[in-house]
Amino acid sequence: MDNREVLIEAVNVKKYFPVKRGWFERGERKTVKALDGVSLVLYKGETLGVIGESGCGKSTLARVIMQLVPATAGEVYYKGNKVTPENIMQFRRQVQMVFQDPYSSLDPRMSVGRIIEEPLRVHMKGLTAVQKEEIVRPVVAKVGIEYEALVKYPHEFSGGQRQRIGIARAMVTNPELLICDEPVSALDMSIQAQVLNLFKGLQKELGFSYLFISHDMSVIKHVSDRIAVMYLGKIVELADKKELFDNTLHPYTKALMNAIPVPDPTVESMKADLTGEPPSPINPPKGCSFHERCPYATARCSEETPHLTDMGNGHMVSCHLCHGAEREVENA
Ligand code: SF4
Repeated sequence: MDNREVLIEAVNVKKYFPVKRGWFERGERKTVKALDGVSLVLYKGETLGVIGESGCGKSTLARVIMQLVPATAGEVYYKGNKVTPENIMQFRRQVQMVFQDPYSSLDPRMSVGRIIEEPLRVHMKGLTAVQKEEIVRPVVAKVGIEYEALVKYPHEFSGGQRQRIGIARAMVTNPELLICDEPVSALDMSIQAQVLNLFKGLQKELGFSYLFISHDMSVIKHVSDRIAVMYLGKIVELADKKELFDNTLHPYTKALMNAIPVPDPTVESMKADLTGEPPSPINPPKGCSFHERCPYATARCSEETPHLTDMGNGHMVSCHLCHGAEREVENA
């Protein structure tokens, strides 16, 4: 029996954005289906990586779980309790967010000290200056920023330091979960590795859980315990990292894996099977939304939508090809 504590559970979450109509457009108003029925759980102490191409809905998923945008349908639970307007402040103290862009996510008019203290002003009102310092000083030490530098402004720091400041701001209320939305994609490669190692070190020391979003499979591979692969607003594969890499099932995941750069020049890099662009989320194709790009697509794939199915060992996949293999095993 699985006795891991569930921190977050998202149940059939949908997020549709209405599309603005042109002056002469008539008829039914169109919607972008950014999330189209996403369900997942995140366990205490783990890093759940979410990967997919730009526009697959992974950042919208982060924002809906964080309640920064309302879901069109579905529910989000925190430790078994549905997140509602009544308990949102308690939820946000325990679940904080690290944003993608360390340049625009810090207010340039505020000193870094004030930026890091901001969540304390919202969630722990009435603290004295001494009490705030007692909280902030060890937090900034853990992310590698000197306390004396907090009088400076964001533009006086490098990109990597600014992301460390963003992490300190997220840590200051002592949350259980950090939702990290592409937290290293705006950084140079060498700085990326330092920040990723910082995330791992903080998790080991403080027991954080992470929902870690990236479009880069090598980043996701480095940080994750389990990995969810998203395509056009849906999860198409979800498994433990080792299982996903040893036994990749979905053709889209295989294509993402093949796109990971190979550091050895003597090894011929496998070309990604992925061709073309993802279809429009305003008008997704019938059947499997990946069928127009899938090298294994059959007639069934363009007619019938596959459902996310547990193939055993918690390895979930949404693909007729794999489900057929499962039936063959069942019938053997
Ligand atoms: Fe490819 Fe068909 Fe599987 Fe979709 S359902 S991933 S089109 S084989």
